[in-house]
Amino acid sequence: MNNQNHSCGYCKADDSRILYPASDVFGNDFTINHCNLCKAFFLSPRPSNELLAKAYDDSYYGKKDEKFEGLVEKFISYFRNNRAKRLSKYLPTGAKVLDIGCGNGKFLQSLLRIKSYELFGIEMEGNSAKRAARIKEIKLKIGALSKDDFNENSLDAVCLFHVFEHLTEPKETLQLLSGIIKKDGILMISIPNIDSFQSRIFKGKWLHLDPPRHLLFFTPTDLNNLLKEYGFELIHQKHFITEQNPYGMVQSILNCFTKKREVLYEALKGNTEYAKDYSSLNLQLQKLFFLATLPFFMGTDLIASMFKKGATVEFTFKKI
Ligand SMILES: [Zn+2]
Repeated sequence: MNNQNHSCGYCKADDSRILYPASDVFGNDFTINHCNLCKAFFLSPRPSNELLAKAYDDSYYGKKDEKFEGLVEKFISYFRNNRAKRLSKYLPTGAKVLDIGCGNGKFLQSLLRIKSYELFGIEMEGNSAKRAARIKEIKLKIGALSKDDFNENSLDAVCLFHVFEHLTEPKETLQLLSGIIKKDGILMISIPNIDSFQSRIFKGKWLHLDPPRHLLFFTPTDLNNLLKEYGFELIHQKHFITEQNPYGMVQSILNCFTKKREVLYEALKGNTEYAKDYSSLNLQLQKLFFLATLPFFMGTDLIASMFKKGATVEFTFKKI
């Protein structure tokens, strides 16, 4: 473990407690630690840049035109449109909206079906960014948010959907966001809930832990407190997230029975290379388990959400 960086993924302090082990999709061993200073949960040691580059290669975004196969993509687009409606109700026509980690740009595109907006997207280089670049209404930056990208108080809304946990410099990002979002502007952010029932049950096998890509986590309460320090007030939180949470249950259970993690998830993305150790019968059985149990896990997710213990959470904050 020499020369490995075990410092906190948020505050960078080296004062944490090891909670449980977690192996990544390549078989590397990590632990999930809890920072004694800022209360972040983080992946330890910090993955190297080489490992992260490998984890975000083309197979991560799906090799075909869509990230997922047809039916799954339709399912996702239904929920993406609903998310666009939730944001849109806070925004005037012509509002400036930035989606950080905009993927293929489809969320921004679904906003346009509701009203006209000025749209900005940021995405890392790769297939997703290439797809987003084809949407002419989006001003796309390939790379990461930096301080010269936007003027102070210039944006009406910023979205970070399942992006915060990937950030190598989360603190700097929050500082930037606090400057560029206007007063009364909106910050919509969704994260895996490390305080969820799923996380507590499955620990290192939990789907939404997603090592080595997910570097840090906060409980909903701690994230809320953190964002207060940056001038944001929580106006809405949603724990019942059908496009993410029931599948988290399915895949986490499967992860307890397969040597590699996330085999079905990768197979659904069309990553046949990753799933090649598994026979087609095995994969069909995993798919069958998924389809047969999904309605049941939608039910359990509804119960979890009532306790604010949903596997992923969407927060809407207002800049004050
Ligand atoms: Zn910390």
